[in-house]
Amino acid sequence: MLESVAPDELLDRVPREFGPAPNGSLLDCLEPVLRHSNHLHHPGYVGHQVSVPLPEAALVELVSALLNNGMAVYEMGQVQSIMERHVLTFLAERIDFGEEADGVLTHGGSLGNLTALLAARQAKAGHDVWSEGASEQLGVLVSAQAHYCVARAVQCMGWGTQGAIAVDVDDAFHMTREAAEAALVAARARGIRVIAIVASCCSTATGSFDPLAELADLAKEQDLWLHVDGAHGASLALSPRYVGRIAGIHRADSVVWDLHKLMALPALNTAVLFRQGQRSYEAFAQEASYLFGSADPRDDWFDIGRRTLECTKRAMGTAAYLALQIHGTDLFRDNVERLLELTAEFAAMIDATPDFERAHDPEANILCFRHCPHDGPQAGPDLDAHQDNLRAQVLAAGRFYLVKTRLSGSTWLRVTLMNTATRSTDLQALLFALRTS
Ligand SMILES: *Cc1c(COP(=O)(O)O)cnc(C)c1O
Repeated sequence: MLESVAPDELLDRVPREFGPAPNGSLLDCLEPVLRHSNHLHHPGYVGHQVSVPLPEAALVELVSALLNNGMAVYEMGQVQSIMERHVLTFLAERIDFGEEADGVLTHGGSLGNLTALLAARQAKAGHDVWSEGASEQLGVLVSAQAHYCVARAVQCMGWGTQGAIAVDVDDAFHMTREAAEAALVAARARGIRVIAIVASCCSTATGSFDPLAELADLAKEQDLWLHVDGAHGASLALSPRYVGRIAGIHRADSVVWDLHKLMALPALNTAVLFRQGQRSYEAFAQEASYLFGSADPRDDWFDIGRRTLECTKRAMGTAAYLALQIHGTDLFRDNVERLLELTAEFAAMIDATPDFERAHDPEANILCFRHCPHDGPQAGPDLDAHQDNLRAQVLAAGRFYLVKTRLSGSTWLRVTLMNTATRSTDLQALLFALRTS
């Protein structure tokens, strides 16, 4: 699946000169790319949260790359702008966002979270921060288990490290309402004007879903913006069986939803959805008269560049729209359900093997576990080093790609099951490979 080569060695192996004349065929030149890339379609790929893309969607991307319509304005991407809108409407309906919902597609959850938080700031700071700059210390409440991009977005906005107020999680890695409320009181006592709660849906390390309905209650009582970082988990909206895990998402002010995670599209492809659609114009409240015509931005809803950091952008909606048309929506539901079921099966498998233990119950398709045989290290740095060693050996053998993470001060192996071609027998083989490394 992946021939693992150290960076310094690969630096020498991949030719660095560009000669004046053509240097081989396209296929010859592609050879090192195929050889030295992680092959996500291999059933042993159980690593990061990136989707195993549908081939048809990748072909649409090829066509879009050739057309290269830039999409900042409708004239430079007419059908692309309409398809993006239809995709956003489809997604907003899945989370019951109501008639007024609107949004944009943007390049990734990190940029999506920044976009939503810029709108939150404009809505809740109490003055026009976009034009005037912030006049007091602003902050957002966010789980200590949240993706690092939330803190990054906050620091990009100039609020410093104190702007992302880390809320302690419970034993199952959730940010509870009680903990968020306590952090809110403490932050206000420190003089921070808290404007938003950022809920993880789900968290990256363990796939734990913050209780959205309870956090929505708190946000309402305290007049805070509720942003749901559903980069990974918003796709549970496609599954009647699992949608209960994101109950309350319809009460968010904004939701980020990565289509390149549980929706099987090539990266990057992210929806930023606003329950009150007009908020989508507030993240970037600036004018650019040479591009955009009218005074009320809503008259130019079709000029997408008003609502994203990007000017030129890829035709993300086209890949999403055509993938949904070609395959039908059931396939996306089935993918989510298959991956979550397989993860539950893996958890049961670990419970049945005394030399492995897991860090949490799986709520999504993510599971952290470790090897702790009775005749091996039992705790502390030795147990951590044991996980590092096992992972290094399994990666070197090339049949599996899994990752690791730190939880409560210890090292855990981590899988994200993204590939519907992965079978229980592959997961048995993974445990066997780890045990015998
Ligand atoms: C993956 C992820 C992100 C980052 O999204 P990118 O698309 O990789 O930029 C943010 N938040 C959560 C919860 C994620 O799982």
